[in-house]
Amino acid sequence: MTSSKPLVLCLSGHDPVGGAGIHADIEAVAANGGHAISLITALTVQDTAQVQRVQSVPAVLLAQQLQTVLADCTPAAVKIGLLGEAAQIPVIVEAIAALQIQIPLVLDPVLRAGGGATLAGTQTIVAMQTQLFPCVTVLTPNAAEARRLAPQAGTDADRAQVLLRQGCRNILVTGGDEAGAEVCNIWYRDGAAPQHYRWPRLAETFHGAGCTLAAALATRLARGEAMPEAILQAQRYTQTSLQAALSVGRGRRIPGRLP
Ligand code: PLP
Repeated sequence: MTSSKPLVLCLSGHDPVGGAGIHADIEAVAANGGHAISLITALTVQDTAQVQRVQSVPAVLLAQQLQTVLADCTPAAVKIGLLGEAAQIPVIVEAIAALQIQIPLVLDPVLRAGGGATLAGTQTIVAMQTQLFPCVTVLTPNAAEARRLAPQAGTDADRAQVLLRQGCRNILVTGGDEAGAEVCNIWYRDGAAPQHYRWPRLAETFHGAGCTLAAALATRLARGEAMPEAILQAQRYTQTSLQAALSVGRGRRIPGRLP
């Protein structure tokens, strides 16, 4: 079966206010020319300010969904965001291996919400690093997540080396939540100097920026764009979405991902 749009398999949490998670994925994938196949890893109780609760979808249910969908549809890329529980990770790894095709996998390691809530426990982080990282084409941590994933490393470059050695082929560390007049994102890979991208810092922080970037990147890779172009265009799309941010509640604004 052929599709006029590349399919992007998205595994993410559900955020009822539509800023982050699967809602962000579906919009960003569509806006970048793909079609999202959407599997929900967790339900959340949250508003535009903070996450109050994460309820995992049972790993066996996720396994059944993956088996059913992937027997029918062939994705051109995978985007993974929030994971509900560590037991989901081997299920996802097995389902992707069973595809028997090499497709790009973008992992946004969602560890902590902008509002402060912890979104991944130690068991999930360990399973992510040992089982999922070797499958990852691009890891997109924010700077705080990179520090948490490689706490023993002293510099940004050392942290990136640790994550590359754990199997991720590319690391795009985002600086939206760091201080500074500009947002600096850095692309690390083996055998090349780090590439810095600088964007004007907007006057506020947003809810769902990281999900938007990772889903746009997965879609651009699904379309066959080369890595440098996909990384640049996904950031450009995210910046444009943040400039068009929507107010849907009393907390942070959410990216305006659709025209
Ligand atoms: N909820 C879900 C389902 C998410 O995937 C994320 C982050 O990826 C968040 C909440 C937190 O998003 P933010 O830190 O942008 O507020």
